[in-house]
Amino acid sequence: MITVEQHGSVTVIRMARAFFGRPLYWTAAYLVDGLLIDTGPVCTASELVRVLNGTQIQQIAITHSHEDHIGGLAAVRARFPGVPVYASRAALSAIEDPSLLQMQRYRQFIWGEPSPQKDVRSLDEVEDVIRTPAHTLRVIETPGHSRDHVSYFEPTYRWLFCGDAFVGGRDIAWTPESDMFAVVSSLRTMATLRPERLFPGSGTVRRTPLPDLHGKIGDLIQLAGEVARLESAGCATGEMVEMIFRGEPRLRLWTLGHFSAANLIEACRAYYVVTAPVDTTTSASPLRRGRRSDLPDPPASRSTDPGDLRR
Ligand SMILES: [Zn+2]
Repeated sequence: MITVEQHGSVTVIRMARAFFGRPLYWTAAYLVDGLLIDTGPVCTASELVRVLNGTQIQQIAITHSHEDHIGGLAAVRARFPGVPVYASRAALSAIEDPSLLQMQRYRQFIWGEPSPQKDVRSLDEVEDVIRTPAHTLRVIETPGHSRDHVSYFEPTYRWLFCGDAFVGGRDIAWTPESDMFAVVSSLRTMATLRPERLFPGSGTVRRTPLPDLHGKIGDLIQLAGEVARLESAGCATGEMVEMIFRGEPRLRLWTLGHFSAANLIEACRAYYVVTAPVDTTTSASPLRRGRRSDLPDPPASRSTDPGDLRR
């Protein structure tokens, strides 16, 4: 399943595995001035190539090595041979050998397994700048969702192509690979850029990105504060899952535990260990020292964006 929308001169191509005629989860590629940013999953690769027929793809840039962003590479390269492909140095090994992604079965089912890709260039080679005939995009390191994640920023129009560094809606389940300190730091970096259009991996384009970015940062810090408070009160992870999320979401079941609220709680713990103030009077764990005074109150209930599952 594939849809195409135009946002000014940016073409938004959203792709999803159709299940009984309905999309499971959307992922997006963006086409701007001959530059294709991400390529979607294997399962929609032939549809993507049909959409790209009649266009001039001159270069491809990848945000990170997850299968729903690199899966279409083989088909696009076959249709546009010789087109240079760029990714962060950290992403190259998984793009060359996707077995390193260690895909669980649900990922194989939803997206399909990418084929190995050779001759993908490191963004170091172009000094973190991608030039098209009309635009210059700067590479912004935005790790956290994955270690190899970068975003692409066009400063004239203030477009930010941020992959999965921003995921809309309330966070209810994370993978164990996600790093909350890096996620929050990357979101702060993105907000500092003052983007006027945010083009995320879900394909849901944000026209007023700053409130969304600041809202997400606030939500995560509030959640970490709530976890720290409950930790101080002696609550175990399972109890926190019940108290904060009213139990594990269904997502945990069908991802066989890869996405879980417990993982998110653990990410909050790790975040707090990094950000807690230094206490020289005790060697106790920072989580046992009580609540930080600068942590805000726990968040009220928020709506959940169906784009929550991002690989
Ligand atoms: Zn991802």
